[in-house]
Amino acid sequence: MQGPEATGPFCQSCGMPLRQPEDYGTEADGLMAEDYCRFCFQSGMFTAPDLSMQGMIDRSPDIPDRSRIIPALKRWQEKKPAGR
Ligand SMILES: [Zn+2]
Repeated sequence: MQGPEATGPFCQSCGMPLRQPEDYGTEADGLMAEDYCRFCFQSGMFTAPDLSMQGMIDRSPDIPDRSRIIPALKRWQEKKPAGR
């Protein structure tokens, strides 16, 4: 039992469940973006590239555990400030 994350693919930006092909975003070449939903990622770019992790948490009221799930998603893991 891993919790809700184990139930299926989620957008790695906002945590939205990705259940159908049309839920997914698109890569620059028009192919399906496997990691992100269509609201977050279109044509190979984030729709809100300047959005912070906290901003994403604040704008995702539909996801009950967002404050726990979102920081664990791939988009925010990669942006960790690593002592620059
Ligand atoms: Zn998303």
